[in-house]
Amino acid sequence: MMRWETYRWGGGKKLATAGEIMRGSAFTCGYCRGTGQTPKTNAQCPVCRGSGEVSAKPPVVKCAFCRGTGVGHSGTTVTCTICKGKGVVEVKEPIKTCPKCRGTGRSSSQLSCLECRGKGVVEVKL
Ligand SMILES: [Zn+2]
Ligand SMILES: [Zn+2]
Ligand SMILES: [Zn+2]
Repeated sequence: MMRWETYRWGGGKKLATAGEIMRGSAFTCGYCRGTGQTPKTNAQCPVCRGSGEVSAKPPVVKCAFCRGTGVGHSGTTVTCTICKGKGVVEVKEPIKTCPKCRGTGRSSSQLSCLECRGKGVVEVKL
């Protein structure tokens, strides 16, 4: 049932685990991976405006839809519509893996899951 997947950067370096709750409020920009520049054109990163860092209100999880990369569709440079390129999304605890997409955040290769809106996790209704 639980399918906590590990997200990795291109080089294989561990990025985060899906559904892992993070408490910080400053995160490495997912879109530019902290470089402050866009991957292909080396222009200023539109997500963090060149700082390499983004802020979010904890608790947050890595965006399941883009797997924390900030890119909406692999092979493109379009920023993820779920996390707006940050790579992290704010959540409300307690959370569980989305039963519909099983944590992938997707209902198909292109569309985000309607149940969790791409986060890969849903609030546990008490
Ligand atoms: Zn950035
Ligand atoms: Zn995302
Ligand atoms: Zn879902």
